[in-house]
Amino acid sequence: MPFVKNGDVVAPGDPLCVIEEYAPGPGTYEDDGIVRASIPGTVRIDTVNYVIEVRGPSAEKKVLSPKEVVYGEVVSMRNELAQLKVARSFDEVFRARAFSAVLHISQAGKPVDSLYDVVRPGDVVKAKVLSSPPYQLSLKGPRLGVILAYCSNCGHPLYKVGNQLQCPYCGRVEDRLISPDYILKAKHQPKK
Ligand SMILES: [Zn+2]
Repeated sequence: MPFVKNGDVVAPGDPLCVIEEYAPGPGTYEDDGIVRASIPGTVRIDTVNYVIEVRGPSAEKKVLSPKEVVYGEVVSMRNELAQLKVARSFDEVFRARAFSAVLHISQAGKPVDSLYDVVRPGDVVKAKVLSSPPYQLSLKGPRLGVILAYCSNCGHPLYKVGNQLQCPYCGRVEDRLISPDYILKAKHQPKK
């Protein structure tokens, strides 16, 4: 268990975690196996990439910049447009401070007739910001796409099997634009 949690305020030298738990990111340093804060600021734990960092007050920008890569949850969608809640880290997506953004089918990352071929409501994606507010997103770029998706049939999180997603509970197979950073990877073919 790390010594701190997301959002904790720390001072330089404060222990954050042991090196085996998270890699030291910006605003931290390693000292004899312990990751410590190098600046005063707020702890951010990236549970996708296993990196811990400390952000100073100036790093907490209140707006997103074009080209910034963000995480987003699909809140609602139609064939040509999806509405997302986005943030700079996976964990922040699910908090009240997330930003609103939209994804248009022209930025789907591959030519499709419907955005439903790429994302579905509830999916979490890694996307690139195209414009300042109102934020428009793009899935065109390396490593962008869906990083977590849920079964349309039973709601269970889907696992990546080959280049498709499969529900380990009901066996349903679904298509998405899958990022190489998809979180749940099946080591073995899930049982049906
Ligand atoms: Zn299912």
